[in-house]
Amino acid sequence: MEIYEGLAIFQGIAIGAIRYHYDQGQFRYPNAISDVKRELSRYENAKEQAVEELTGLYRKAVANTQEREVLLFKRQLQVLADAGFSSAIESMIRTEKVTASYAVATTRDELTSTFASLEDEAVVNRMNDIREIADRLIYILGGLAREKYTPKEPVILAAEKLSPSEVMDLDKSKVLGILTRSGSALSHTSILVKAMNVPALIHIPVHAKWEGRVCIIDGYEGKAYVDPDEAFLEKYKKRREQERQEREYLQSLKHEEDITADGYPVRLYANIGSMEDLDVALESDVKGIGLLRSEFQYLGRESYPTEKELFQTYQQVARAMGERQVIIRTLDIGTDKKEDYMNLPEEINPAMGNRGVRLCLQRQKMFKEQLRAIYRASAHGNLAVMYPMVTSVEEVREIQKIVGEVKESLRAQKIPFQDIQQGIVAETPAAVLMARELARELDFLHIGTNDLTQYTLAMDRQNPQLKEQYRENHPAIMKMIRMVVREGHREGCWVGICGELAAATELTAEFLRIGVDMLSVVPACILPVRKKIRETKVGREFVSKLK
Ligand code: PEP
Ligand code: MG
Repeated sequence: MEIYEGLAIFQGIAIGAIRYHYDQGQFRYPNAISDVKRELSRYENAKEQAVEELTGLYRKAVANTQEREVLLFKRQLQVLADAGFSSAIESMIRTEKVTASYAVATTRDELTSTFASLEDEAVVNRMNDIREIADRLIYILGGLAREKYTPKEPVILAAEKLSPSEVMDLDKSKVLGILTRSGSALSHTSILVKAMNVPALIHIPVHAKWEGRVCIIDGYEGKAYVDPDEAFLEKYKKRREQERQEREYLQSLKHEEDITADGYPVRLYANIGSMEDLDVALESDVKGIGLLRSEFQYLGRESYPTEKELFQTYQQVARAMGERQVIIRTLDIGTDKKEDYMNLPEEINPAMGNRGVRLCLQRQKMFKEQLRAIYRASAHGNLAVMYPMVTSVEEVREIQKIVGEVKESLRAQKIPFQDIQQGIVAETPAAVLMARELARELDFLHIGTNDLTQYTLAMDRQNPQLKEQYRENHPAIMKMIRMVVREGHREGCWVGICGELAAATELTAEFLRIGVDMLSVVPACILPVRKKIRETKVGREFVSKLK
């Protein structure tokens, strides 16, 4: 048995055969062909199939209003329609008598290396599109495409890396778990993977020779066991069965209230980062959205989204949730979440750099457009707004001034809006220490334990080398949570937790006893936390500050 340790993106137990997701390296050899005509028609057919697949993905993205993907697939369809791209491939098949796969791979490499040094955003996008298109064509030509994306039996997918479009392409019912060599916990790919609700590990040294071998993924321990022995496998089969029963039981809680065993209601809301997440959250009959990470509309595109695009999405979420509250976090761009069109200068330590609301305060046009979209959408549901990475009262006052201007301009244009609640993500040690002063200016404080932990412990939240020492439930963090709750309540604010720690069921009882008013968790964790809340007696009157 081989044991590998990685970083868990999503918990759970999976047992199954590995399907290795092939890298393109294998198509680098110029296999000669004798029948040029046949090879040209193979290429033509592959192209047709790729157009069909991409059109399907494009339509799906349009239906889900995933604007990033809509643009991506539209661009990729344009590459396929471009005569230049195909004629380079066809002429290579004709003159050099090589396989279509080799011609595609070589054309891809030639094009992408010629323009590799160019930083122009449109060129970078085009090169990425060419890479993805070529990879799709190669899979199809290898006869691997359908099998790879939709294996007959459910499998454990092992890949060097997965792109967001590959994840979207997967037949979710055929994936038991996912292992990848690269990736980071907060990448767009990981966000999509989390929504699949299957155990997933990154930083696992996957290998093509694993194809077909039995594997156990333990998403609780962050471990993958390849070729487990019989006794070990049996042990895990029992654990998986327990997990299955538990899941079944959890499904029965779908329409239950979030109320403690001694009768106190708790706000258990969902964190979402895409419109797909919203669907998953709605399936769990979620009572509100505690954190809408708004970056998804800004990523994977060539220019800023327009106010109209932002508004339409917020309006759609607001309407889908009806009377239930939706808290939109304004743009938290910086660190790993950025795009070329934003023109962000390189920073030595971007996590400590110009990110979150700092950047928004510098780029007021961008900030105002988002705020206008949020306030306009507020007329269509129950919205609230919160600001990331705040460190001082002065920042909050500056934000309020801009919000005042936005409201004024809406009023002048007779555009309806509501005076919605405003809060911050309390995720810097400074915000914790200034919680009382900040609370005086705001309606709520939502504790972002992900960043709060990294800034308090001075440990990068994405560094796998620190996973032993990196403890989100470090006593310092628990002390900080208590402090924010106490100080926030003193000033009449409600206090929630929206970092990943909110989903830690071993801490649910403690959070409630401390007086945390809202727990906001990834959609897949709604039911486990609901179960815990319903089992917990807070033992004293739980006075919620929620307005
Ligand atoms: C956090 O930092 O805890 C948080 C909720 O925000 P993000 O994970 O998006 O940085
Ligand atoms: Mg954060």
